[in-house]
Amino acid sequence: MRMIEQKTIAAISTAQAPGGIGIVRLSGDRAKEIAEKIFIPKGRKKISEVPGYTSLYGSAVDENGERVDEALALVFTAPKSYTGEDVVEISCHGGMFIMRRILALAIRAGAVPAQAGEFTKRAFLNGRIDLTRAESVMQLISASGEDAAKAAASGNEGVLQRKIEAIRDSLVSAAAHLTAWADYPDEEVPEITEEELSQTFSKAQAAFSKLLREFDSGRMLREGVKTVIAGRPNVGKSTLMNLLSGYDRSIVTEHAGTTRDIVEDVINFAGIPLYIADTAGIHDTQDPIESIGVDRAVTKLSQAQLVFAVFDSSEELTEEDLSLIGKIGNIPAIAVFNKSDLPQKADRERIRDKFSAVVPLCAKDGEGLDKLEEAVVSLLRQNPVNPSEGVLFTERQRDVIERANEALSEAASALAGGMTFDAVTVSLEGCISALLELTGERISDTVIDEVFSKFCVGK
Ligand code: GDP
Repeated sequence: MRMIEQKTIAAISTAQAPGGIGIVRLSGDRAKEIAEKIFIPKGRKKISEVPGYTSLYGSAVDENGERVDEALALVFTAPKSYTGEDVVEISCHGGMFIMRRILALAIRAGAVPAQAGEFTKRAFLNGRIDLTRAESVMQLISASGEDAAKAAASGNEGVLQRKIEAIRDSLVSAAAHLTAWADYPDEEVPEITEEELSQTFSKAQAAFSKLLREFDSGRMLREGVKTVIAGRPNVGKSTLMNLLSGYDRSIVTEHAGTTRDIVEDVINFAGIPLYIADTAGIHDTQDPIESIGVDRAVTKLSQAQLVFAVFDSSEELTEEDLSLIGKIGNIPAIAVFNKSDLPQKADRERIRDKFSAVVPLCAKDGEGLDKLEEAVVSLLRQNPVNPSEGVLFTERQRDVIERANEALSEAASALAGGMTFDAVTVSLEGCISALLELTGERISDTVIDEVFSKFCVGK
């Protein structure tokens, strides 16, 4: 058991921005005592005397008893709180000045400012949650799309933890058999055949491989996809951008070359966050300012993970259109044949094989947007991931599973190669120890600090 940290910490736990309400959270042995100095309940009940989960109405006050704000104190009693310690949350009006004032008063009354992620870290150190759940808290806060939120929520419910523990248990029992055999060759140790061992190994290996595969294909869904709208001037890029954003963002004009710089937005497209950039029309220009925009557009295009290549379907394809295809190279791209409401002239067949999908669209009124959505979904979800099934969601987790997988492959080949059970056991133990790191049961303080440093203060 680790030493439980004794200092009582305090932080603003809502956003560091003005809001309807703000919460200053205290956690630690002295949370209630400190809260009593800065909060006076209206009724007769005292913070230190009420049972857990009680909320008290009253005022946040300064040292002189002067009212700072009308407030509520929500009291949690150890171990039934987020951190496992006594916790008091003071809800006040969400003005920055008021929240900071109450925090300052808490600190003056004896609390210390919480470090980044310290509340969640205490929850982990106090055994309330394992490390994968702690990490999912951070993911939940920063999730920008539905899939990301679902994956984080399932992590938070311990789906990943249970999945890993089940694999680990099967490996631990295999290792126990092997050890018993090696140590007590003459005793009656229950039989485990090589066949059974190798089955246990391959089952675990399959689970690891699936987790690793899903991590890679899920990364874009979680972190967002860098998407670029490209095309020669006047094909309707800005109109498409506005359609996607749902409001007028880019400048739409009838004159070619008006989007001089890059307009960016993050939109939620079929549950996938797209970081979408509307670039200047990519074409040859003499205008020095416009050419800066074109250069930037080309750079942006080369960094994209997805391209909407827009063409004007009411005109024949031009040289510029064709040269855009060359610039896209191997980046996954969807050809958008815009202006489907006008008489059609562009030859779609000519370029069909260069794109993952070809979608007719009328960006002006949104006709065909559903088809574009379908094309994006089928392009990005080639390896469908069920985010509720327990997936890896941080680099640390992926790294640990990769190590576990390698160690297990060694164990499997030692077994297949007819090596001694000792050799198998050593690799197997390497794998088990990696899995203990995943859930945080065997882990160094440096790694713990590293995990929690990525949190924000107040969480
Ligand atoms: P950009 O230079 O590629 O960004 O093109 P814009 O979005 O500024 O559009 C150029 C012109 O095409 C504007 O007059 C738009 O109103 C028009 N336009 C865009 N989309 C459509 C469409 O789907 N149908 C029709 N008829 N006109 C469109």
